[in-house]
Amino acid sequence: MQPVLSFTDKGIYCAAGDFYIDPWKPVPRAVITHAHSDHARPGNQHYLCAKDSIPLLQLRLGQDISVQGLAFGEQIYINGVTLSFHPAGHMIGSAQVKVSYGGQTWVASGDYKTENDGISGAFEPLKCHVFITESTFGLPIYRWKPQHNIFSDIRSWIHENEQAGKNSVLVAYSLGKAQRLIYNLSHSVERFLVHGAIFNAHEMLRKHGWPLPQVELITPQTPKEAFPNSLVIAPPSAADSAWMRRFAPYALGVCSGWMQVRGNTRRQNADAGFAISDHADWPGLLQAIKATGAEKIFATHGFSSVMARYLQENGLEAEEAKTAYGAEEEEITGAGNAASSGNTALHIQAPGAETPQTGNGTPDTPE
Ligand SMILES: [Zn+2]
Ligand SMILES: [Zn+2]
Repeated sequence: MQPVLSFTDKGIYCAAGDFYIDPWKPVPRAVITHAHSDHARPGNQHYLCAKDSIPLLQLRLGQDISVQGLAFGEQIYINGVTLSFHPAGHMIGSAQVKVSYGGQTWVASGDYKTENDGISGAFEPLKCHVFITESTFGLPIYRWKPQHNIFSDIRSWIHENEQAGKNSVLVAYSLGKAQRLIYNLSHSVERFLVHGAIFNAHEMLRKHGWPLPQVELITPQTPKEAFPNSLVIAPPSAADSAWMRRFAPYALGVCSGWMQVRGNTRRQNADAGFAISDHADWPGLLQAIKATGAEKIFATHGFSSVMARYLQENGLEAEEAKTAYGAEEEEITGAGNAASSGNTALHIQAPGAETPQTGNGTPDTPE
């Protein structure tokens, strides 16, 4: 029997339905899991996505794209193939794609996280025969603290900075992470001052009815007196830039899953690192994979070879699949962000750059 989905040089392809999921080369019909730029690329003739992704796709790819949206769980039929979107919990609008044909169900996860952040939709475990999982943080060392603990760490840090007479600047990826921080810190922060890259996405989401608190755009006219008692949020590309200097004296905190690895905070010249991610950690990935009941797993971006090997060692049929994903949201490189100036790229340890030790199927030994 033909596989329902296959990996081609353009992307994940469904031959029966003649469409691609998150293609990295232009195709006639693109099914998009979420609006991050490594998954939602320009140049496709037609886009199909979860409804909540539409405004974000338009913001990124232009108002004039041909796009159709489906509610979560709504099914459509394409040449005998059944397709539906289900919450992935990764960012606003993010979805897993469920594709059924000839008695087989495949699910492509896009990116996902299993912890509910309050705005991205709760991750929905789906039963399937074949599961294509991301594995951005597919190493046993990646285990996130519950997010309420991280937010309380951030609040204490802001408080310490205040005591020391410093402004607080948090670096967070502009689409997804920034909204998550703003939403979850809104009870303790009076005033959010944000970089333009964050402001545009934020305002557009508010306009479309997302219950996000008000933020203020930082401009050359923003008075210095506004900085104390505010939280500044900037995209990774703005760190170490001329744009940043106006906040001096300030403390810099970086919010990224990569902050779990000691040394990355220092490498980024940050005063604090908060290991908060919009991707599942190692236990989250394993738990999600198990819940699918899938008989075959393909692991894409991140530590995909480690993940595939670990699953094999645990008796599952698993394979690494090469894709072009993973080049954006968690890599603190500044790519894809419209920073106003400076744009000194920050380089931190990227997936695959280390030699991971998985042990002999003992994921419970963090290093
Ligand atoms: Zn993503
Ligand atoms: Zn991704």
